[in-house]
Amino acid sequence: MRTLVTGGAGFIGSHLVDRLTTRGDTVIVLDNLSTGRLSNLAAQRDSPDVRVVEGSILDELVIEELVSSCDRVFHLAAAVGVGNIVGDPLGSLIVNSRGTENVLAACARHRRKILIASSSEVYGKTDRVPMREDDDRILGSTTVHRWSYATAKALDEHLALAYARQGLRTVIVRYFNIYGPRMDPLGYGSVMANFLRQAMAGEAVTVYGDGLQRRCLTYVDDCIDGTVMAMETGSAEAQVFNIGDSKSETTILDLARLVIEVTGSASEISHVSYERRFGPGFEDTRRRVPDTDRARERLGWTSQVGLGEGLRQTLASLTCKRPDDVGGGQ
Ligand code: UDP
Repeated sequence: MRTLVTGGAGFIGSHLVDRLTTRGDTVIVLDNLSTGRLSNLAAQRDSPDVRVVEGSILDELVIEELVSSCDRVFHLAAAVGVGNIVGDPLGSLIVNSRGTENVLAACARHRRKILIASSSEVYGKTDRVPMREDDDRILGSTTVHRWSYATAKALDEHLALAYARQGLRTVIVRYFNIYGPRMDPLGYGSVMANFLRQAMAGEAVTVYGDGLQRRCLTYVDDCIDGTVMAMETGSAEAQVFNIGDSKSETTILDLARLVIEVTGSASEISHVSYERRFGPGFEDTRRRVPDTDRARERLGWTSQVGLGEGLRQTLASLTCKRPDDVGGGQ
């Protein structure tokens, strides 16, 4: 199987590339190295089975060439990270909408199956949990830039499902707060990356707001299992699947305490207002929990790695690196 992985040098994408090559695929990686980095693919450096193309999903000619030369596409490339989205809403919107449209259109032209990596962010600030794939989405005002990411990802999903009506073979996964080795390469600031970096450096661990917002942290190996299963389950086509570890639900404050404990750090916890971090009018999702019945029933997927174990494995991967290599970095 010749597989194109857009965003294949990123945190999740590089784990997917490792998995696919282990299974015997020949892989083409397309990545613009905005948040991805070549060192994530170090295990593939001398592999004849992996070709890395530095380029953008906005480049229609590159997309045309790469899609036509592969059998299937995992589309993970995106502008990610809440800080990046509110910092550059226009650039993020263009990549996440037009870029995906380019990839989908090429897949439709060449009849290639495509998996779209979407996000639990599409549920917005609904307080209905667990979140089911067919639930209503509740997004804030268009004046709050944070919601532009969810809007673009929802557009991507709509596009994929509309193409499916025209015969495109496609499947969509919504990731819930993925963490693990290699996360957040150039510091887009997801919570686990920030907390580990801060705790290991002995700096204050920055909890935004009251810290009682809740998330389900999902270990990257589980994420890759779900991603591959979604792609390879024929009956899953034209459907959306939550990929998230509902058993790992935690408040962000408890997560900060756990990271401090597991790293043996002397760091203190410092509360930072959303306004100070993201500017006025910022809105956060209070609680985010996936309903994973559909993924279990239709894909045979369940999460395997709990938060404590996943955190220890992540930490173990960092011990040979300097703390400022951990990622995060805001
Ligand atoms: N968060 C935090 N400190 C940080 C980074 C994030 O308290 O240094 C909080 C953030 O406000 C959110 C949660 O942790 O409530 C998860 O943030 P992340 O950006 O990882 O993902 P999100 O769930 O917001 O997409």
